[in-house]
Amino acid sequence: MASILSLPDELLLGILANLQFTSSGSLYNVLFSCTRLHHIAKPLLYQHVCFSETYFDPDSPLFKFSSQSLPMLLTNSFRLITSLHNNHLPDKYKPVCDMLSSAIKLRTFSLRLTSYNMLDSEGNLIDHAPTPFSAGAVDRFINALPHTLSNLDIDTAGMQAVGDFPHLCHSISELIPHLRILRLRIRRYCMDLMRRLTPQNPSRLEAATIHLDGNTDGRKPWFHRAIDCSGDHAIRSGRGWFRTPYLSTSKLARGFRQLYMEGALPHLSNFLLVDDGRGSIRVPGSHDYFRVHNICTNTTLTFPANLYGSTCTGYEMIGNAPPREIFTNVYWLRDLDGKQLKGDSEEVANFLEGTLGWKIMGNGSCLPPPSGQASVLEYCPDLSCLSVLHREVDNMEKILRPALSELWIREETIGKDLIRATKSEGVEDDAFMRESLPSGWEYYRAFLENDWCVRRV
Ligand SMILES: [Zn+2]
Repeated sequence: MASILSLPDELLLGILANLQFTSSGSLYNVLFSCTRLHHIAKPLLYQHVCFSETYFDPDSPLFKFSSQSLPMLLTNSFRLITSLHNNHLPDKYKPVCDMLSSAIKLRTFSLRLTSYNMLDSEGNLIDHAPTPFSAGAVDRFINALPHTLSNLDIDTAGMQAVGDFPHLCHSISELIPHLRILRLRIRRYCMDLMRRLTPQNPSRLEAATIHLDGNTDGRKPWFHRAIDCSGDHAIRSGRGWFRTPYLSTSKLARGFRQLYMEGALPHLSNFLLVDDGRGSIRVPGSHDYFRVHNICTNTTLTFPANLYGSTCTGYEMIGNAPPREIFTNVYWLRDLDGKQLKGDSEEVANFLEGTLGWKIMGNGSCLPPPSGQASVLEYCPDLSCLSVLHREVDNMEKILRPALSELWIREETIGKDLIRATKSEGVEDDAFMRESLPSGWEYYRAFLENDWCVRRV
């Protein structure tokens, strides 16, 4: 009987490459099967890697990996999932940063900050919401990245930087002239992000997704706008407090659109600026929304949503601490066809990124849309990321109060959909998302009630 070993090396390489992204550890096991397969499998094992590391312990797998010479020669994509809360120990990160800056094949870097769970001396959980992280440490990693890098993903969603910190915009802006695909989900932005780009010095960017991360998942929405990190906006208010300088999406959209029209982004086919906004209880029929501004196509998609709903989904056990409830925000939104959808913040982000979304592989690696494809991709949101909401099945009315149940009551009264997602021209739309009431109807507030009702005029 013919053995797999009778195949030539090139075919074995092709076969083993299929194990690269599996979570089972099969590729690792192949290393110990025989010398020949070991030599073929080993380089594959180093190509796409993901490490989850909280304490940057010198004995951790990440440090063992970083101290080898193979990652510098073989690693093509590197994803780090961490909390980066140790600002006072910057040398901790040095071995990993040194490895990254000498990785001559590194094309893709993905950094995901997640909350960490700190225990006090009694073993009780110290709660942080939102979780603080060191922007200085993030800056360190970005500065360490080699200029061979073409794909960058920085995701600090739900996290808040502590203390005085550098603009991440500055270090990211140094990489942008070389980047092909960019994905950012951070809390602070300014136009310095694109400061290296001019029509004379254009970028290679094919696709970019920038989330103005305002919500911190896990507890409750915190802010609903990105924060302007450019120094001249740090305003001291009359009472001596620092006013948080918010950055309006339209200002950022206008700046990016201008760069695009001037020819500083000649290869770009999709540039999404994603944000969310709140409705107001004072404005009848207004709703929260998720909005996708596409700088290249000069269009804006707005999805009516509910950003407040939250539900308890389970318990977390850490060490000897008592079990802790985990809260996940569940958002409701409605698409262009009037379909009702729901998902947590990650699912909503994946839905909004749609065809431009990065893919998490079985081994934890995070990869952008394939090379060449990104420049011709037609953007559309990915409905498969969210589940369809069935009112009668889920107990969502209670969870998604107040705006949603009011909407449903109004729609039942009138007998038709009052709101759906919209697609509009231009990228500077930051208006309220409002229902369109058919003629002959008006809003009113019942006596001593907060809810807006509808009645015939
Ligand atoms: Zn900035």
